[in-house]
Amino acid sequence: MTSPRVGVLSIQGDVREHLRALAEAGATAVTVGSTVELAAVDGLVIPGGESTTISRLARIDGLLDPLRAARAAGMPMYGSCAGMIMLADRVEDARPDQEFVAGIDMTVRRNAFGRQVDSFEADVDIPAVGGEPLRAVFIRAPWVESVGPAVDVLARVSRGDDDTIVAVRQGPLLATAFHPELTGDARVHELFVEMVRKQA
Ligand code: GLN
Repeated sequence: MTSPRVGVLSIQGDVREHLRALAEAGATAVTVGSTVELAAVDGLVIPGGESTTISRLARIDGLLDPLRAARAAGMPMYGSCAGMIMLADRVEDARPDQEFVAGIDMTVRRNAFGRQVDSFEADVDIPAVGGEPLRAVFIRAPWVESVGPAVDVLARVSRGDDDTIVAVRQGPLLATAFHPELTGDARVHELFVEMVRKQA
């Protein structure tokens, strides 16, 4: 499969930027806003945005359980920022009624960097994508507080004395606290498209 069909969950968030990055990474990129569209893709990106809104609208639209079923059936998924929160098994500072797709054995803290600074950029070394450090944009980003044994840590950033995890992979699931779709560097999307190719 040279050009896998990769969807971007189009409930809320920066959908267009992910579509462009996926196309650049060699995928056939399509929006996913219904169960029919979900069933027609080989992999799915859950974009950045606001995870409480994505959660609420996914429930209202009848997409939350199909998303969980697709994930459980092994569909590769990549979540950036709010999407990372959606893929976490445990979320600190979630809204009490917030629901998740889950799947990655990690504890994520919402708006974690927000206490220090709302948004920032950093050069992040990600050996899994190769090459130079990647310019990463963090916007009211979560961080990963802990991971289980099945999770590969792909990247960390140092902030003061802290060294926090900002990119992880567990099998067909990938998540970043930052937004690689905003900087015109398609390497993270290339990694994901390669994961989708292998799985399909
Ligand atoms: N703070 C947002 C949330 O909790 C995530 C921010 C983002 O995706 N840029 O969902």
